[in-house]
Amino acid sequence: MFLDVKELAVRKVHIRKEYAPGSIDYGANEVKQAGPLEVTAAAELLDGQIRVAGILETKIEMVCARCLEPVIEEVHKDFDLFYQPLPKGAKHEEERLRDDDTEIGFFEGEGLFLADVLKEQVLLSLPMKVICQSDCRGLCSTCGANLNHEECRCETHATDPRLAPLARLKQDWLKKQ
Ligand SMILES: [Zn+2]
Ligand SMILES: [Zn+2]
Repeated sequence: MFLDVKELAVRKVHIRKEYAPGSIDYGANEVKQAGPLEVTAAAELLDGQIRVAGILETKIEMVCARCLEPVIEEVHKDFDLFYQPLPKGAKHEEERLRDDDTEIGFFEGEGLFLADVLKEQVLLSLPMKVICQSDCRGLCSTCGANLNHEECRCETHATDPRLAPLARLKQDWLKKQ
């Protein structure tokens, strides 16, 4: 859906829309939409700025930072955003500049795509890192086994007999912790 300045100049647009997984490109492999994205919003032109305000809801599949298993994050986000026309002569990259305090972005040309607005809001609402459970044991750094599902023997399975005393020492030390 394209929010066209000329159309917004005539009337406020009410939006109720669903985006299926895959229809918004989040530009990151670790971020996958795992259910429909529902948005209810209104767009209008105020003093030459496009204002988009509403709420979005979706589920995003991320990857556990410790064990790399998929984790579903529920996203509910209210937003109230203003987009100014990109100043003439400004470079395209500046479109992405945003002052976090005032939440002002820029649009270029005739308007902006709602999908771009939603993508940005979803990415902003996601945590930098997720873990599947607070006591996730992660992956063994030696054999890569997922320690939530299996016990690996990297610690105790010392094949070199010369290392056995060392392994015992380490186990005793671990027990005391
Ligand atoms: Zn995990
Ligand atoms: Zn291991």
